[in-house]
Amino acid sequence: MYNIKEGGDYLRKIVGAVLILSAFLLTSCSKAPEKSEEHFFAMDTYMSIEAYGDNSEKCVSQARKRVETLEKLWSATDENSEIYAINHGKNPELSVETLDLLSFTLEMSAKTDGAFDATIYPVLTAWGFTADEHRVPDENELAELLEKVGYGKVSADGNKITLEKGMMLDFGGAAKGYASDECAAIMRENGIKSALINLGGNVYALGKRPDGNLWKIGIADPLGENSENAGIVAVSDRAVVTSGNYQRSFTQNGKTYGHIIDPKTGYPADNDLLSVTVIAEEGKLCDVLSTALFVMGRERAERFFRENGGFDMILIAKSGEIYITEGISENFTSDRKVCVIN
Ligand code: AMP
Ligand code: MG
Repeated sequence: MYNIKEGGDYLRKIVGAVLILSAFLLTSCSKAPEKSEEHFFAMDTYMSIEAYGDNSEKCVSQARKRVETLEKLWSATDENSEIYAINHGKNPELSVETLDLLSFTLEMSAKTDGAFDATIYPVLTAWGFTADEHRVPDENELAELLEKVGYGKVSADGNKITLEKGMMLDFGGAAKGYASDECAAIMRENGIKSALINLGGNVYALGKRPDGNLWKIGIADPLGENSENAGIVAVSDRAVVTSGNYQRSFTQNGKTYGHIIDPKTGYPADNDLLSVTVIAEEGKLCDVLSTALFVMGRERAERFFRENGGFDMILIAKSGEIYITEGISENFTSDRKVCVIN
């Protein structure tokens, strides 16, 4: 026979056990992984690195140190850097990293038919972008300087390179992407499964967010005030890098001049695009390509995509339309008119 008292005790025991079990499950399942983050200024821009997991504090600190080491090698204005030495007529033995990025940029310069050119520095300097003393050089000055530009004139000999007199190197269009790959490698080597590396807009989204969802990366609206987004792309284990002349520019006599130079003309790239975002597995590829495709303009960028592939892209046109490649069409959201490139 059913005994109310005994039944009540039994019920209380079960309820108690369930409560203890669910409390245990709640603490073990919902315990947020340890989060570590650092915000700092390097490579002339603001950076942030966040990572989740047991080892995260050590990894974030190592990643930041790696970025700072690369900055010391590549800063065009630091008298102790390898790039400064090369640009000032010296012929130092180069580090593995410098040789690695140099050979990658030279290869990509050829592939993009010179839309990317790591020897653009003399022209960039004439426009005053390197010292923040902006000016508009005249055509003769640019024509003379363009003779000092040309990736094809860089000759390598073992771990040294020689530049013609007056030529100069600049990794400004590739260094942050390379550095983001290095940060991601540090995270992976140490077992980190979730991290967001943002090196001045060169984003690397490692794994998924700690809650298991894809990372959501906002794509800036080049015309928007107050950091508005033109769209959001959801990714995992991808670099997302945006280039556009809206990012760094000056205005003189009503005309705006941006920091991405068309190496064929010596003038800031000025075509039908406001920005280019490239999404791929490697940050250095995204960084170089976003700069190069911005120089190319929409039609050439689309042709380059069809001929080469291996990446996705988001083009924001001056017309207001957004063009995206099919590979990210499921993961891109925007209020604007979006056309899929195929
Ligand atoms: P990003 O922000 O990656 O598009 O790079 C822009 C930076 O790359 C500029 O500030 C310059 O340092 C450099 N740069 C400008 N134009 C070019 C170009 N056509 N090829 C390579 N680097 C460039
Ligand atoms: Mg770039």
